[in-house]
Amino acid sequence: MIKDLIMMTPEQVRAFILEQACRFEVVEGADFVLLINNDAKKDLCLVSHYDTVGNTPPKVLKQESNILHTDGTSILGGDDRAGVYACLKLADSVRYTLFCDKEEIGGLGAIEFCESMPHFTTKAFIELDRKGNNDSVYYDSISLDFEEWVGSFGWKPNTGSFSDISKLTPYFNIPSVNLSVGYYNAHSKREILDLDVLETNICRVKRMIDEYDNRPFALD
Ligand SMILES: [Zn+2]
Repeated sequence: MIKDLIMMTPEQVRAFILEQACRFEVVEGADFVLLINNDAKKDLCLVSHYDTVGNTPPKVLKQESNILHTDGTSILGGDDRAGVYACLKLADSVRYTLFCDKEEIGGLGAIEFCESMPHFTTKAFIELDRKGNNDSVYYDSISLDFEEWVGSFGWKPNTGSFSDISKLTPYFNIPSVNLSVGYYNAHSKREILDLDVLETNICRVKRMIDEYDNRPFALD
């Protein structure tokens, strides 16, 4: 499924998400899709974005052992199709899964979500849109309690410039983190995606969700 997602346009990814979503309640905006899983007890919101830099699927997709890459003439788009893939795999476990468009041009999908659902609430946003294999990025640090909880699963804090949660956390005052999903050299034709890291980190996020007891995180 990850290779299929990488070869799709954003419009095709959105249609694919909606096809997969028949078991969920769905809220749609022009530039976001929110899946609501009323059967899930874990009050968390996973986040990823379905646009890529340029929004054009790679011309050629290659795989060498666990590494996906292009032939060097186009961008892979593991940022953030890896996150979309992970979110689809995990959507059964959490109450909310948010897919945004236009993250790469300023988080426009996230902004639309804020304006469309101003009373939205959850305990935390977990975005799956970070390069590398072990990073946790808090763009807006509002809960050391939450950061300690995330850190207890082995993620190491790092710094980053922007993702959808940079819009969501200040608007809703809900803590958030962006976690690594295994892509490297994003926004360049040298981008690669490590499928082993992706699968390992999906399992790790699943463990976080399973162990989360729905307690509110103390805000600073
Ligand atoms: Zn991204």
